Amino acid sequence: MISNRVKSLSPYKTETTHAPIRLSSNELSIELPDFVKRRIGEEISKLSLNRYPDPEAKLLKEAIAQRFGLKVENLLLGNGSDELIYYLSMAIGEFDKGVFYPVPTFSMYGISAQVLGRERIEVKLKDDFDIDLSESIYRIEEKGPALAYFAYPNNPTGNCFSEEKIKAIRNMKLFTVIDEAYYHYSEKTFLKDALEREDTVVLRSLSKIGLAGLRIGFMVGREDLISEINKIRLPFNVTLPSQVIARLMLDEFYHILEEEIEIAKKERDRVYKELSKMEGIAVYPSKANFILFKSLVMPADIMHRRLVQEGVLIRNFSYMIPDSLRVTVGRAWENDAFLEAIQKILNTP
Ligand SMILES: *Cc1c(COP(=O)(O)O)cnc(C)c1O
Repeated sequence: MISNRVKSLSPYKTETTHAPIRLSSNELSIELPDFVKRRIGEEISKLSLNRYPDPEAKLLKEAIAQRFGLKVENLLLGNGSDELIYYLSMAIGEFDKGVFYPVPTFSMYGISAQVLGRERIEVKLKDDFDIDLSESIYRIEEKGPALAYFAYPNNPTGNCFSEEKIKAIRNMKLFTVIDEAYYHYSEKTFLKDALEREDTVVLRSLSKIGLAGLRIGFMVGREDLISEINKIRLPFNVTLPSQVIARLMLDEFYHILEEEIEIAKKERDRVYKELSKMEGIAVYPSKANFILFKSLVMPADIMHRRLVQEGVLIRNFSYMIPDSLRVTVGRAWENDAFLEAIQKILNTP
């Protein structure tokens, strides 16, 4: 029957409520031009869907390598970086050695560890959302985990942890995963370490830059490490349509994504500024494409529900951080709708 490891899991949470404006999953709000959609349609119609895809997704790897200045042998592709998190929790260290990560953070680190029966060593972030180094060192010395995850920038808090603290933890002989799902919004990276060191890998994703539906994530690391982890990869983990569309987008239409990323960064700074002017809201700076804020005048559950009534869906994080909500930065009109709705709610509590 179902193991206790699985029974005790809580399923991955997403917002399923319907709303015309969806700012809940940190996707890039982008509508591809018709000529791009037609091109995608043409490419898809040429595929032999009766055949298995290339298990190594060689052409897509080449496109990723070319686009991001990497080498094919340093890449491992996943069905989203979520899958790569599973692989890392499976491949790194023995299962009687735990997995360390600061919380609150992305839930997959804990879920993957728990499924495998690995101990989870969770240390609460300080009030400024940076790592509590002395507590981390204490717990690591006590528990001796093998693996550490750092979302960089962190989800849902939006900040990048201090580089020195990450390195201090890594120095305690922990294999270190730097999850850079929001790299394009922060431009801060551990890529150099991932290419040089045998104790560090970087995770990247196409999900937050306009292609979440394709489910493409990639790991960057030393060739020897990548070829070991590649042994546990499911043979055809990236589908044929995803391989083809992702390659097309990276090779020919990447500038369209880039422009939208730049707009989203400017919008992030505007939304942050507007939120910080509002009485009844405490807002946190962000290096990602989302913003965490606190509702000071009414419970977050009520603010969340009233935003849905106004047609705007964001993510309620009050189960993790008291009174907190996270809004994804959308296009200007979506952000305006969100800001107007929240102002209206604050004016009529
Ligand atoms: C969204 C997110 C991911 C998931 O990325 P996929 O490539 O879509 O699986 C990974 N890590 C963090 C921190 C995220 O916020």
